[in-house]
Amino acid sequence: MNNIYNFTRKQLEEKLVCMNEKPFRATQIFEWLYRKNVKSFDEMTNIKKETIDQLKKEFDINRLFIEKEQISKDGTRKYLFRLSDGNFVETVLMCHEYGLSVCVSTQVGCNMGCAFCASGLNKKQRNLEVFEMVLQIQMINDILNKENKRVSHVVVMGIGEPFDNYDNLLSFLRIINDAKGLEIGSRHITVSTCGIVPKIIEYSDFELQVNLAISLHFANDEKRSKYMKINNAYNISELMDSIKYYYSKTNRRITFEYILLKDINDSWEDAKQLIKLIKGINCYVNLIPMNSTINEFTRSTEEKMNTFYKMLINNKVNVTLRKEQGHDIDAACGQLRIKQMQGAVCKD
Ligand code: SAH
Repeated sequence: MNNIYNFTRKQLEEKLVCMNEKPFRATQIFEWLYRKNVKSFDEMTNIKKETIDQLKKEFDINRLFIEKEQISKDGTRKYLFRLSDGNFVETVLMCHEYGLSVCVSTQVGCNMGCAFCASGLNKKQRNLEVFEMVLQIQMINDILNKENKRVSHVVVMGIGEPFDNYDNLLSFLRIINDAKGLEIGSRHITVSTCGIVPKIIEYSDFELQVNLAISLHFANDEKRSKYMKINNAYNISELMDSIKYYYSKTNRRITFEYILLKDINDSWEDAKQLIKLIKGINCYVNLIPMNSTINEFTRSTEEKMNTFYKMLINNKVNVTLRKEQGHDIDAACGQLRIKQMQGAVCKD
């Protein structure tokens, strides 16, 4: 049966019309699901019994199961959700001055194979369905409700490549942005991709003003191809062309993410190449301290990170050096899921 959280309001309206129901019921149902956070159709008290029975026949309303919750000293919380097929998905909640931000996963595992990333150590098992993405936020809202708080920001930067699960991503974005849905402002949402060029081009026509971030990490093809497989399919010049196209269509400033990896991409020369590459592009650069993972990469020294940062500042680049959160709870993508799976292997 189809999960009710899979549907955008428009899709639900169409479905209800097919069921001989009034389309406005979709708005009522959305309010119950996303505002009042009900767990069953029976709680939807302004809908008549016969319709409720019909809804129960058409849709299931199952949620995710919380397998594990970890709370960091800095307030970051990490959740491991179990899906109905036994797979696991990770979601992180970060507390910022400007609000509460959730980092959503889009796939079980990832096929992009970036060498420094824990998410890709396990190949993609499958795409997440829309409801499995929406509910990562809604399950956390459930917990936050008790503290009179709500998720205000979403970053699609968890496990998986969002543009490799494109159609579900768009429905997810429509639902969380909907004024009758989770009502998360489009400028409070950021989607991050490692650079699937045809999808960046397609995404330029998406109707919502959602932010786009590109995991660049390297400013020359030789290095990028060595550590990020995607660069063999779409090189830096093709990537930059697609970004310029995206900007020409949307007028939205892009964010480049750049993880600082010790002795790999943190030299003066690397900074110079980066400055040259992004010259003239309306962008932010987000420098990210490498999160320790279970592979051979380590983070740059404080000194190197600061020098890199200053060099960009001096060249008038809009840049931030991201503060790391949740270090004590394995908040880096993929780590918790990997531990759970290793645990499962050991137990067998
Ligand atoms: N596949 C998408 C979204 C998931 S990764 C993408 O590539 O953008 C989210 C971000 O975390 C990416 O910028 C990714 O490169 C970065 N990341 C991966 N491994 C990391 C690590 N060990 N430390 C810090 N950031 C990491």
